[in-house]
Amino acid sequence: MAEAKVLEKSLFDSKIDIPQKILENAGGMDGKYNENISLASHIVNTTLLGLNIYAYEKLVLKSERIDDKEVSILTASLVLHDVNKYINEKHDWDRDENDEEVLDKYFEDDDFGVKTLFNQIDEDIEDYKDNILFLIQRTEINDRSQDTRGLSTDFRHLIDYCRLGDSVASRITNQGLDSGAEKLESHYSGLDFDNVRHLKFDAIQQPILNRSIISTVKEIIEEEEDNVVLGSSSDEVLYLGEEMERADLKEVVKEELPKNVSERYEFKPKIGWNATDYGVLEEVGLELEDKKKILAEEFGQDLLKDGSAGVEGFENIPEEFRELLPSLIKKIYIDGDSEFENNTSQERFDEIKNEKGNQKVKLHFIADLLDRWPESQEEAKLIQENYKEELEEDLTPDVNGFETVIDRFFGEKDIEIVGKEDQCFVCGRKAEKQYQKGQNAFYSTQSFSRRVAPSGSWSDYKKICPVCNLEYALLAYECNQRDVSPGSDVEVAYFYFDDFIGDVKLYVDSVSEALEDEDADLDDPDAVRDLWAPQFHIQPFYIGDKNHRMRRVREVMEKLNDFGMKAILGKAFTRFETHNNIFYDEKPIRVQKNLGFDVVDDYSDLERPLAFFDIIGSIAAGKNMSNPYIQLDNDDFVEMADFMVVNNEKMILNEDLRSYFESYRGEEFMEMQKIAENGFKLFGKQFNSKHKKTKIFRETIDALLISKSQGLSEQNLRTHVYGQVKSSAEREDYAGKVTEEQVENFVDSIIEYLKENNLYELKKLSDWENALTNSYYYAYENILGGDQK
Ligand SMILES: [Zn+2]
Repeated sequence: MAEAKVLEKSLFDSKIDIPQKILENAGGMDGKYNENISLASHIVNTTLLGLNIYAYEKLVLKSERIDDKEVSILTASLVLHDVNKYINEKHDWDRDENDEEVLDKYFEDDDFGVKTLFNQIDEDIEDYKDNILFLIQRTEINDRSQDTRGLSTDFRHLIDYCRLGDSVASRITNQGLDSGAEKLESHYSGLDFDNVRHLKFDAIQQPILNRSIISTVKEIIEEEEDNVVLGSSSDEVLYLGEEMERADLKEVVKEELPKNVSERYEFKPKIGWNATDYGVLEEVGLELEDKKKILAEEFGQDLLKDGSAGVEGFENIPEEFRELLPSLIKKIYIDGDSEFENNTSQERFDEIKNEKGNQKVKLHFIADLLDRWPESQEEAKLIQENYKEELEEDLTPDVNGFETVIDRFFGEKDIEIVGKEDQCFVCGRKAEKQYQKGQNAFYSTQSFSRRVAPSGSWSDYKKICPVCNLEYALLAYECNQRDVSPGSDVEVAYFYFDDFIGDVKLYVDSVSEALEDEDADLDDPDAVRDLWAPQFHIQPFYIGDKNHRMRRVREVMEKLNDFGMKAILGKAFTRFETHNNIFYDEKPIRVQKNLGFDVVDDYSDLERPLAFFDIIGSIAAGKNMSNPYIQLDNDDFVEMADFMVVNNEKMILNEDLRSYFESYRGEEFMEMQKIAENGFKLFGKQFNSKHKKTKIFRETIDALLISKSQGLSEQNLRTHVYGQVKSSAEREDYAGKVTEEQVENFVDSIIEYLKENNLYELKKLSDWENALTNSYYYAYENILGGDQK
């Protein structure tokens, strides 16, 4: 389907950047129907569905060529099908329909880069705006279409793809894949076609393997000439085309998955001068020769070329020697065998052992063989002959992790129930192998897990099944790629757009690198294609301390806002499950929960945490503050204003801070402003120090404290405080115009504030005096600041 590449160019060519611009500009906006799906996500999904369906009909059903102009118009109409929603959000308009005015407003900036579609084919978009509007207005049946009612257009036949794209995408989001499939079925049954295929699988617990299998399934389906994949969730695939036998599909997946995974991931043995073993190589279903090669390369590089344990690095390792290395490793390291048939070998080994000791002899002996190469050739060959068979036996897995996981994904008939002592500590399935990962492990080797009852002795290791062991290796690889050392302090962030993602792979002939490359740097706009291709992204990250974790939460939330994705944060090695919330933290820390930053429902709710983090970041900036993000465990007005005054008073008139208070702490802030206004009326405008500006407030609090400590009744207390405040104000007020009313208003508003905020008692008042004074100072300055403008 070489022709279909035209389509790829129209949407996912990095020179055009349309998806990137959609994500950038509409990423942080709530979707039209579903607030927990970004508008960007809905637009891209709709566009992909519409284009995929179009491509299928054009190329498969009609065997026609794809017309550049037609594709540009269709793409533009799909991208702009919710343009009113976008314009409403961007310009604070309120349009229910897509009319000419909305479209003109959009084209003032052309944020999604639609014009480039036409520039690329040397056409002027002005000639097609009417057609685009015509199609947009007919995408939703309820759109009023007056503007274009009289228009005669050559593109009427594109209406179906606009409607199908939008309605299938919306149905899937709201009601699941079944509902989207039904919509398509009713469309095609009207045309007498039986071509809608909806495949269902069992999602598996190991996320990276799950994602790799679903990509492999899509790739296999797509290889059939008459099939077009529309999209997938993590356990469903929707495509148009020929039905495939499930058993056949499964067989091909078994062939292809190990290839795909090993193309993308490197499987490494565990190499150390004192201990070397096969690591995950023992378990993965790779070709034997490949495994030997990997083992030799890694050992040769890490220990012989780089040198270790007193062995000087070798500049060169001859190929013949390299080929013998796996057998040497088997004899010396795996079996710990120190008996040799060849006399020279035996003598050398014993000599080195006497000199270097029991441990170092292993590496030094192998290095000695290399040193004496090629004279040592016969000795080494003899070892190879003796160990070749056993080595190959070792490297052939008893249970193939790939096959096991594919069986699970395709739905095993019988699931073997096993006793606790034979369970995988991660997934609970049958496990034979002990879990031994040494120091750097996501779970420590010897501590007991929740699945293994702590009844055994300390020598009881956990067990791990071949599938989890495979997943472990994949996750460890992802970690190493990011310089994150596998350990119990590693967490992962799953980024994804929606449960269902429209397929971008249609337009590529061979295996798309982007599809297998989940590494896509989210900061790189050219990687948007990569961003969209996998079912979800997994980013392991190291957690240093609580502040570090909060910083990570901030970064993740910023990405969500930038790209319109959703994210789940949690422990490494957990199942990927989509959520209704756009942000979901499986193990939030206390401060996060108090702030309400553990779960975020939709994109508009993302604004508060992002603004909070920005403000805290600004306050901390240049102040050398360690742990800024865990200093405040709530964003109450008094505490936040106090925090700013104490740490960075320069922020006192900061617009973002004021707008934060106005948006999220409106009531408290307004009440404190009222107090400040009363203080201002009573005490006049003070230009000098903070001390002077807050003097009357502090004295009021002091007077309240004294009255309270004397146990005065409410009436006597007020009388006493009025008196104190009045005389204090009179001392300062040069014009001498202090009235009883001003005093009472001021004092009463303070008392009211304290009562409402549960601070009107001796202990609390004395604890909070400074913070209250600082927040008064904040409000006072903001009145003055506003006054001076
Ligand atoms: Zn397991």
